[in-house]
Amino acid sequence: MSGRHIYTDMKRREFLKRLFAFTALPAIVSMPSACNDRGSNNKHIKGGIAGANHKTGHLLRNTQHLPAPSETKDVNILIIGGGISGLSARRWLGMHGVDDVLMIEMDSKTGGNSVYGENSITAYPWAAHYLPVPDVQNKELIEFLQSCGVITGYSNGLPVYNDYHLCHDPEERLLIKGYWQEGLVPNFGVPDTEKAQIADFFRHVEEMKLAKGKDNKYAFAIPVDASSADETYRKLDAITFETYLHQQGYNALHLLWYLEYCCKDDYGANLRQTSAWAGLHYFAARKGTAANATGADVLTWPEGNGFLMKALRGNDVGNIITNTLAYKVSIEDNNRIAVYCYDAEKKQSTVVRAQKVIMCTPQYINKHLLQVDNAERDGIYDIASYAPWVVANVTVQHIPEGKGAVLSWDNVVYGRESVGYVRANHQLLKASAQQVITYYLPVVDTNTTAARSKVHNKDYEYWKQYIMGDLEYAHPGITAYVSNIDICVWGHGMIMPSPGYIWSDERRVAQQPIDDKIYFAHTDLSGISIFEEGFYQGIRSAQQIINSL
Ligand SMILES: Cc1cc2nc3c(=O)[nH]c(=O)nc-3n(C[C@H](O)[C@H](O)[C@H](O)COP(=O)(O)OP(=O)(O)OC[C@H]3O[C@@H](n4cnc5c(N)ncnc54)[C@H](O)[C@@H]3O)c2cc1C
Repeated sequence: MSGRHIYTDMKRREFLKRLFAFTALPAIVSMPSACNDRGSNNKHIKGGIAGANHKTGHLLRNTQHLPAPSETKDVNILIIGGGISGLSARRWLGMHGVDDVLMIEMDSKTGGNSVYGENSITAYPWAAHYLPVPDVQNKELIEFLQSCGVITGYSNGLPVYNDYHLCHDPEERLLIKGYWQEGLVPNFGVPDTEKAQIADFFRHVEEMKLAKGKDNKYAFAIPVDASSADETYRKLDAITFETYLHQQGYNALHLLWYLEYCCKDDYGANLRQTSAWAGLHYFAARKGTAANATGADVLTWPEGNGFLMKALRGNDVGNIITNTLAYKVSIEDNNRIAVYCYDAEKKQSTVVRAQKVIMCTPQYINKHLLQVDNAERDGIYDIASYAPWVVANVTVQHIPEGKGAVLSWDNVVYGRESVGYVRANHQLLKASAQQVITYYLPVVDTNTTAARSKVHNKDYEYWKQYIMGDLEYAHPGITAYVSNIDICVWGHGMIMPSPGYIWSDERRVAQQPIDDKIYFAHTDLSGISIFEEGFYQGIRSAQQIINSL
């Protein structure tokens, strides 16, 4: 669950390594009482289903039961949705002097998929948890990172990243053939012929990284919209990544496992559900450089991207209303936009009338909200497909270890359905006997509707058994040391870049405003759900408004 993995030995930040040698060693653990009960008995483990407020969201299925509006409110600009895209739009409008902006968010907190939780040990992510070192060409993002202390200065024209925010060593390990190897690219026990193919694949993506189209743009860029539209590359969106790999002669089992892991990790999709363009984008779009890091390094925080979310939002939250669901968006006769909102706490509805609205909500939600004639953009609803995820935060007093590399930030097990776990307190410098690990399971199925029903319909006990089974496989005996598992299910976790989606007309059209009044920003409009795209989508829509004023 850590993004881009380097094939060769990675560079390390020595001072933190030394610091860690002294501070991060877990204290000797006492045996928990449940220790006699090793293995499958996990009755002592407490917790429940936590996280995003699905109940409020599901009210959209039956809006006729919501109370009629009892008041109205007028604002200049209304932003619906307080995820990264919405917060980025709000920040951009604020930076450019646009006032009288209101944001509504259906959940009790802002953040969307970058929301986080906290317990007495550490903060922890509920979904998004890292940002790879970005390309210096992404000026807005670089400026933002500097404004919140992630970039501390420049050296020889390159950003210097805050050492406390760069992922500390040891960064990642893979359990393969009973041994924890360093790094996630399979190596331990892998036949030489397969290793040669793996090396060849990495050479191939290095070439793709530099490839440019006839329009002189990089074939694969972040944001996606900055990528070359040259047909040579664009046509790769029409085929699956699986087909592409087959055409290129890549058939080594360990390579294919690794590439599927990457697709699951970033897209919640398998090789057949990912377009070849998106599969290559994963490796070839990252062109990060820094004075003290490489493009393969990642930035992370105990609360994951909750750190970036808070920085985007700022402390002035007076114009953010949470627990409030938008359930209808229409254009009134007087040319204002009427947004019907339901306050889930007060159980009352309000109509917010705005000059302009930015819908920072996913398209499957917009389908329910928009009561506007716009047949052109309807096509997006048919082609957007979302991956369901289950995420768990597990409090554990001790992690029984096997042979090989020591506990790392990112820990993945070869051949499993989950994409492993990250250690939430990894970036904390204080020693703690207890750990919180954040476990990630993309629920991959050719039938995404069935997969979604599964994540919603299975109860806490089911997921607890499943997750503990997986953790026991990696760390036999761990059950006895686990005190708590809190679980969050994401029915529509992230957009899947399925074949044909990213370069579709539907996606292009869905980014366009309606009547210069209703604007759109969400990572599903990029086709790839990552922080950088949300950040970009917010700026794109806010700038459209600024241009129109
Ligand atoms: C399990 C998982 C792990 C991830 N890990 C990473 C990672 O490590 N790094 C990374 O960069 N990205 C990661 N992502 C991707 C993540 O989705 C994006 O980084 C980003 O947070 C998406 O932001 P967004 O604003 O586009 O969308 P969302 O997060 O979907 O925001 C939409 C917001 O709108 C609100 N909303 C929806 N409907 C309504 C309504 N009717 N009324 C009011 N409010 C409404 C929602 O509550 C939400 O807050 C991960 C995603 C998942 C699911």
